[in-house]
Amino acid sequence: MGSASGRDTVDVLGVAVDRVTMLEAVERVESMMASSVCRQSGSEMHHVVTVNSEMVMMARERPDFAQILAQASLVVPDGIGVVWGARLLGDYLPERVAGIDLMDQVLAACAKRGWRPFLLGAAPGVAEQAAAALQRRHAGLEIAGVHHGYFNHDEEATVLEQIESTSPDLLLVAMGAPRQEYWIARHRHRLPVALAVGVGGSLDVWAGHVTRAPRWMREVGLEWAYRLLRQPRRILRMAALPRFALTVLSHRFFRGRR
Ligand code: UDP
Repeated sequence: MGSASGRDTVDVLGVAVDRVTMLEAVERVESMMASSVCRQSGSEMHHVVTVNSEMVMMARERPDFAQILAQASLVVPDGIGVVWGARLLGDYLPERVAGIDLMDQVLAACAKRGWRPFLLGAAPGVAEQAAAALQRRHAGLEIAGVHHGYFNHDEEATVLEQIESTSPDLLLVAMGAPRQEYWIARHRHRLPVALAVGVGGSLDVWAGHVTRAPRWMREVGLEWAYRLLRQPRRILRMAALPRFALTVLSHRFFRGRR
């Protein structure tokens, strides 16, 4: 157990993951947003990270990525592997907190409280479709703006200006890990939002281009297998999973012998 800045965290191979249920995560995000939105500009932006086992392995290899995770306000276990890994390491995370489900609930709160999200990422046209779908789902939700995620270095200034000029409260960055986390960290001092979060392929799902695994598969922790079947190109990325499992087992074994 860890307690970085009063938080109850679990050390999963060097990454501090918050020990929260989905409900607690939603409450934490809402209260971070409420306190930042109430304060005047200049208040610190919160970065929420939804971590999977592949990202844990990345953090072990890239100190700058590990530092971004360590500086986040909240790190939730997006992948079931992180929950299982914590248990094998002799600790406990109550449940998987899938980023897309967390954000769905946060967007419901945005609709209620008048907070305006900006959707950044995915292929051209997808963020617009996701925005329309989210507005149908959450009555009253106002979207501050959208921009696709395929811009080059020269276009970056224009993207940042667009975000600044629309004064959003929440920034969802859907450019895949670790690109989205690096992007948020690089621009956090310029982003005028209360909170930013990397949401991976969520815009593709909300826009209806990608379907999620059936509920039963999600409940038994097999969403990753469904995604692999639907998008076989993910196999290369998934090579990190056996390495994660082996590293967890070796930590457990050597710790048990001490
Ligand atoms: N993407 C992007 N810009 C890029 C590369 C990727 O906006 O330069 C988008 C891509 O179109 C997709 C998302 O990032 O919508 C990544 O989705 P993926 O399912 O790979 O992410 P995961 O949920 O696995 O992190």
